[in-house]
Amino acid sequence: MVQSAYIHIPFCHQICHYCDFNKFFIENQPVEAYLSSLAGEIDLTLKMYPVSQPLKTIYVGGGTPTSLSVTQLSILLETIQKRLPLAESGEFTFEANPEDLTEEKLSILKNYGVNRLSIGVQTFDDEVLEAIGRTHRTDEVLKGIELARHIGFENMSIDLMYALPKQTLESVKKSVDIALGLKIPHLSLYSLIVEPKTVFYNLMRKGKLKLPSQDTEADMYDYIIEALNQNQYIQYEISNFALEGYDSKHNITYWDNEEYYGFGAGAHSYIAGVRRGNIGPLKKYMSFIKEGNLPAIEENKLSIKEQIEEQLFLGLRKTAGVSLAVFEQKFGDSLLSIYTDEIRELTEKDLIEISDGFIRLTKKGRFLGNEVFQAFILD
Ligand code: SF4
Repeated sequence: MVQSAYIHIPFCHQICHYCDFNKFFIENQPVEAYLSSLAGEIDLTLKMYPVSQPLKTIYVGGGTPTSLSVTQLSILLETIQKRLPLAESGEFTFEANPEDLTEEKLSILKNYGVNRLSIGVQTFDDEVLEAIGRTHRTDEVLKGIELARHIGFENMSIDLMYALPKQTLESVKKSVDIALGLKIPHLSLYSLIVEPKTVFYNLMRKGKLKLPSQDTEADMYDYIIEALNQNQYIQYEISNFALEGYDSKHNITYWDNEEYYGFGAGAHSYIAGVRRGNIGPLKKYMSFIKEGNLPAIEENKLSIKEQIEEQLFLGLRKTAGVSLAVFEQKFGDSLLSIYTDEIRELTEKDLIEISDGFIRLTKKGRFLGNEVFQAFILD
């Protein structure tokens, strides 16, 4: 049963040097036409796969959803409210960029039931922000967070990045300490990965991208883990930390390998055992909808073997690991009997452990995750 929905808004006011998401510089883009196609896609999808009970989570991501104007935001939120019922205790997350956290925009989000903000901060160091192509500055973030709290947003997450150009260990420490001082209940921490087709990738190929050394990166990581642990943040997933009760319910849907709707250009969905990927370019996406077709260009009906592998690959990202009972209930067979030899070997190498009905990565296993995942690939 599908209980979550992701909605993709592929517009941004800036194009960051590291970003490989499906996004477009917002100026001169057909935003309103896109929003009406989005409504069309939701309608088409729900005709085939109706919502059987109010959703547990809705997540609006991008791109930068808050790059929409106030009027466009109202259109989008109205579309969602009319079509996607959210359970009373449901989580409704909106990704936001700091420079968009205005009173008007925040109030609209609040009025339409958004109850969680995920803010793309990346670092509280203005020099590093400039080096990665972000246009906001630390002052704006601090003001935006204060305003969001004033308007009633208490459940917030911020993204921070490390191993960035011009970033030192001191700079990472400062950013983490500021985040802790702000008592933001959820933090996502990512190291820079240089992806193809990005500004950084091109610079790297020309030998012009200067990044912190691997040792410095490891020191940054160690500092982050220690500082967050000392401040009651629980690392519930490889890159995600939360104070008790503030884990991202939406992202847990992915790691629990549960099904979800995915709407918008380039969005992915997992419905009725089929993973689909939508076409990315806006015009093509919109013409699919105009002709009354779903915009999916990739479709993969997962075999049981693939479903089992995914249950492990995704579930082992969580610190809690994979529930043996849920696995057996889902696949009618016990995980321990499917992977008897692999589990024995991985346990002997201290890469995984089994306790309290869960299988999980050990500390060593987290560093050598690939070795573990490799072992769980079925023939
Ligand atoms: S990182 Fe976010 S704001 Fe920057 S280009 Fe990518 S989607 Fe847009």
